[in-house]
Amino acid sequence: MRLLIFGPQGAGKGTQAALLSNNLQVPHVSTGDIFRANLSTGTPLGLQAKKYMDRGELVPDAITRAMVADRLAEADAVVGFLLDGFPRNISQAIWFNALLDERRHELDAVLMLVAPDEVLIERMLLRGRADDTTAAISRRLAIYHEETLPLLDLYRDKVIEVDGIGEIEEVQDRILSALGHRELIRGKSAAVGHRA
Ligand code: AMP
Repeated sequence: MRLLIFGPQGAGKGTQAALLSNNLQVPHVSTGDIFRANLSTGTPLGLQAKKYMDRGELVPDAITRAMVADRLAEADAVVGFLLDGFPRNISQAIWFNALLDERRHELDAVLMLVAPDEVLIERMLLRGRADDTTAAISRRLAIYHEETLPLLDLYRDKVIEVDGIGEIEEVQDRILSALGHRELIRGKSAAVGHRA
């Protein structure tokens, strides 16, 4: 299973992706998490990314692409992945399509978590991440609207919209049901069976 997950910051994307990764047994590849892990251990990649992340700007494409290519080449991700936070702009999307073509891989679905702005802002303030300053939050939201949302056009026939409002488990069940409806998983119950 090869999936992308899109959603504005604060929509619960990371939480839902982590649960879904466990339910579907595919690795959760989050570019934000990989950058943060590099930042906290002080790798050269982390140091390069820091100034962009602090401002809520995108890390330059060349750096991000190399990181994604490396991660997706690891054995666990060759058979499937849930990619979270990538692609984020048109040039990343074009590069990513070429990468998939080259590997003769196809995306199964593109999940899109939706939530109203008031809820998003409230959730972000609760999250308290280092890059959750007012300036960085609004910059990320602007980039999401200007650069990331238009990408959904590229994936039109694969997009599955899911309402992100509700309890964590409830939203997860919506995602699993939606994948079940598209016959991407064998009914929701098969996938949730090992969750307890
Ligand atoms: P996130 O956890 O997805 O909100 O990402 C946190 C930060 O990591 C972003 O504000 C960017 O600075 C950087 N980042 C994550 N994904 C990407 C990407 N696909 N392209 C460029 N920068 C990214």
